[in-house]
Amino acid sequence: MSRSLGTLLRPSLPGRAVSSPSAQLRKRSLASTSSKPSFHPNINTRIGSQTPQHAPAVSIQYPSQGRHFSFYHFRPQASSEPIQEPVPGVQVFPTYLTVDVDGKVSFDFAHLRDACKCPTCVDQYSKQRNFRTSDIPLSIQPRNIKWDGEQLEIQWSDDIPGYDESHVSIYDRKFLKYPVAYALDDTSPRRYRYLWDGPKMQKLQHWISYEDYMKDDAKFAAAMKDLSVLGLIFIKDIPDSREELEKITERIGPLRNTFYGRTWDVRSVPKARNVAYTNVFLGFHMDLMYMNEPPCFQLLHCLQNSCEGGESMFADSFLTASRLRQLRPEYFKILERFPVHYEYVHKDQVYHHVRPVIESRRSPDGHSHIHRVNYSPPFQGPLPRTTKAASFGSNYKGFREALNFFTKLLEEESYSFELKLEPGQCVIFENRRTLHARRQFNTESGHRWLAGSYLDEDVVLSQYRVLKRTHPEIWSQKVFDRS
Ligand SMILES: [Zn+2]
Repeated sequence: MSRSLGTLLRPSLPGRAVSSPSAQLRKRSLASTSSKPSFHPNINTRIGSQTPQHAPAVSIQYPSQGRHFSFYHFRPQASSEPIQEPVPGVQVFPTYLTVDVDGKVSFDFAHLRDACKCPTCVDQYSKQRNFRTSDIPLSIQPRNIKWDGEQLEIQWSDDIPGYDESHVSIYDRKFLKYPVAYALDDTSPRRYRYLWDGPKMQKLQHWISYEDYMKDDAKFAAAMKDLSVLGLIFIKDIPDSREELEKITERIGPLRNTFYGRTWDVRSVPKARNVAYTNVFLGFHMDLMYMNEPPCFQLLHCLQNSCEGGESMFADSFLTASRLRQLRPEYFKILERFPVHYEYVHKDQVYHHVRPVIESRRSPDGHSHIHRVNYSPPFQGPLPRTTKAASFGSNYKGFREALNFFTKLLEEESYSFELKLEPGQCVIFENRRTLHARRQFNTESGHRWLAGSYLDEDVVLSQYRVLKRTHPEIWSQKVFDRS
C-alpha cells in the first residue's frame, strides 16, 4: 500500500496535466464514458397537469429498449415543499428525493451520488471507488431524473469535479429498496437464528457426506445455510487423513491462523498446556475469548475416538440468553454490562481481552437482539482492583448471581445436544454462539485424537453471500422445511 490514497482516488479535472499512472488510468476511465449513447434521445415535450409550472415535463422513448421514461429538468427549491411528482413516482425536496418502490423510500442527494457504481465511479476490475465521499460538493443536485418503475437514472449538477455532463448514475429497484442488503439480510451477523435445545437439534442435525461437501455445490449450499441458521453441522465419511481438515476448512475460505497453528491437535498429552488437552471433563465454553477478534467458527475433525467417554456436547448460547432475558431480565442486564476479563498467559504468549457475557444490539426499529454471547470459564482472568470497593462488591455479587443463574440454565440436560464423534466425522460450529463441552474420557481404554481449525466470521459470511447469489432457491429454504 505504497500508493498515495489521494492520487489513487482523487479524480483529475479535465484539461489538467495528469502525470501519475493512476491518474492516467482515471483519465482513460472518464474518457471511456464519452462513447456511451447520448442521454438525450427523441425527446417529446409534454406539459402535464401534475407538473410544476416553471418547468416542462417530457417523456422519452428509447427505441432500442422500447421503454417509456419520464424526464424532468428542475432547479433547486428554497421551500421544504416537494415539487409534486416531477416524474411519476418521484418527489424532489431541497436536499433529498423520494422514490416509490412499493412505498416511498427517501435518499439524500449526496447519499445517492455516493452510491453510484457506474464504470467511471467504480473500477470494473478492482471494484475500487475512483472518488471520495469528501469530493462530493455539498451543493450537489439532480439535474435530470428518469424513473420507469424499475430503474432510476440521475444526471447531476454540481457533480464531483472531473465528472462531465455525460455522467449518468443508475440505480435499480433492488438497490433502492435495500441499498446494503447483506448488512441486514440472512447472510448478515443479524440473520435469523433458529434457537435449539437438545431434542430440536436431535431432529434437525444436518449431516453431509465428505463427497457432497467437497463436490456438490447445491448440497454444500444447503449445509452452509443450516450452519448459518443453526450454528452447528456435521460432515461424515471423511478419508482417514490428518490433511483433510485443511481442505474441509478451506472449502469455505482461508482458515484463521493462531498461535496454536493453522490447524491443531487435541490429544491427551502429559503436562498439557491447554485444558482441552487433558482427559478431565471440559465444561461448556467458547474458544479464544481472550483475543480481540475470536474466530467465529470452529472445525473439529475426529481421527481417533476409541476411548471410553469423550462425548462432545453442544448448546445454543443464544437460547440460554433468550431464556435468561425472559426469566430474569435484571440478570440479563447485569450480564450485558459486567466486564469479564479473559486471558491466556504463557511463557511466549500473553493475551488479554475484556468483554461482557452478553452483547446485544439494537435494530433501527428499536428491537434489541442478541449479537454475541461470550462464555469461557476456563480462560477467565482476575478482575482489576477498583477504587469504589463498596459498589464494586455489590456489582460483583449481582454478577455472580446472574452468572450462576445463566450457567444453571445452560447446563439443564435437555438443553444440550450430545454425541460421540466417530473417526471420519467433523463438526463445524459457530464458536461465538454454539458452546461446546467434552465429557471425561479414559486414556487407558483407547486413543482420542481430534484435529481443529478456525475460520473468521468475514470469511464465512462472504461464502454465505456467494452461495445466496449462486443458489437462491436453496438459501431461501427454511431449515425446518427440510427436517
Ligand atoms: Zn458514477
